[in-house]
Amino acid sequence: MSVVPPPTSSSVVSEQPRVSAYEIATANFDRAADILDLPPEWRRLIRSPFREMRVEVPLYREDGSLVVFTGYRVQHSGARGPFKGGIRYSPLVDIDEVRALAETMTYKTALVNVPFGGGKGGVNVDPRTLTKLELEHVTRRYISRIHLILGPNRDVPAPDMGTNAQVMAWIVDQYGRQHGYNPAVVTGKPLELGGSPGREQATGRGVVITALEAAKDMGLTVEGLRIVVQGFGNVGMNAALLFAEAGCKVVAVSDVAGGFHNPDGLDLTEVVAYKDRKDGNGTLEGYADSGVEFVAHADFMGIDCDILVPAAIESAIHDENVASVKAKIVVEGANLPVTPDADRALNERGIIVIPDILANAGGVTVSYFEWSQNFQQYTWDEELVNERLEKVMLKAYRDVAARAKSIGATLRESAFVIAIDRVVTAEKMRGSL
Ligand code: NAD
Repeated sequence: MSVVPPPTSSSVVSEQPRVSAYEIATANFDRAADILDLPPEWRRLIRSPFREMRVEVPLYREDGSLVVFTGYRVQHSGARGPFKGGIRYSPLVDIDEVRALAETMTYKTALVNVPFGGGKGGVNVDPRTLTKLELEHVTRRYISRIHLILGPNRDVPAPDMGTNAQVMAWIVDQYGRQHGYNPAVVTGKPLELGGSPGREQATGRGVVITALEAAKDMGLTVEGLRIVVQGFGNVGMNAALLFAEAGCKVVAVSDVAGGFHNPDGLDLTEVVAYKDRKDGNGTLEGYADSGVEFVAHADFMGIDCDILVPAAIESAIHDENVASVKAKIVVEGANLPVTPDADRALNERGIIVIPDILANAGGVTVSYFEWSQNFQQYTWDEELVNERLEKVMLKAYRDVAARAKSIGATLRESAFVIAIDRVVTAEKMRGSL
């Protein structure tokens, strides 16, 4: 029996982040903590994860070889409710990344005021290198090793990069084998297993709602706004489709295979059909159409547009490409996609940045709706879900914009100030601070 190390190269992510996720999370926290003037001991207590779990995840591949991956679940804060956050499958997953993403979730749930804390999980596996059966086995092994710390009132995972509704279905099933069937243990499930209408599009929908609200605040006309989206997965693809539905012109999208640009606007129906083609690999590799030019990753952020949406990886906008950004608004569909230096440079140039904990909070908001529906054993219709999502996102955006104005801060500083303040208040009330 041969033991094969986990794959190190990836077809899911194409490059190593330049600044670690943890450094970006630290910069976000420190700026807000300074504004709030938090004492050092409080900072330490708020930032430190409640619990971190690391497990080995063995997989016998269909060819008989054994591969061992490493899985993590970090429960950052449960001050405001059960830990909540996605599970990521990517070869770049490590403890620092999961820790930073878990902390980011704590502030995201606080900002949109849903009754959850923050958590995150991940396995350092590239799902695109596995068969469906192998992916199911990895998921079941991972869950069988972390199930004791999960639960509808304890820790509720969801999809993230490299995972989807199918993976959530295996999680419900695996958790149910050990604890009895309970769909509220995970969100982002298929509709047939208690998923919520609108969950699949929710993160992208939230991105579009906040972006267009910011555009209106800047006096821009929505119709015809030129949009560039990095990442054509759950967040990026749905955001692109919803921007187009709102009358904007999506001029470029990219995925792991590179970027595709048409200044007259892409035909998104064709782009989606190409990505989903039966004989394809689920990416845009090789996509060609009249008027469409291929753009390398290194040049993608410099494409001329009004709204730029990094919706793929961390550190996507960094010190080497930030000067090329031409957008008026950058909307963080991904978590931690702008490095602290690049963020400063964008602010100095008057480019508005809508921070991740606001821009991509639509997903966790509808995850909350899904969890609530599971407890009610009642399904809302999609219209109601979207209406309530819009209400939550607009309120969060308005709160952040108003606070930014009143304290003379950026939207990022303001969002983190509001969120951290809520976490501090909850910890104080519980007697933990
Ligand atoms: P996904 O796996 O569905 O899609 C990721 C996309 O990014 C794919 O199209 C992939 O090809 C592309 N990609 C990878 N590396 C790239 C690169 N270097 N350049 C361009 N494209 C690249 O993942 P997702 O769920 O859409 O998540 C994307 C980001 O959004 C992550 O940061 C995730 O944490 C964040 N997010 C996701 C959700 C959600 O509900 N899924 C919610 C909030 C935040």
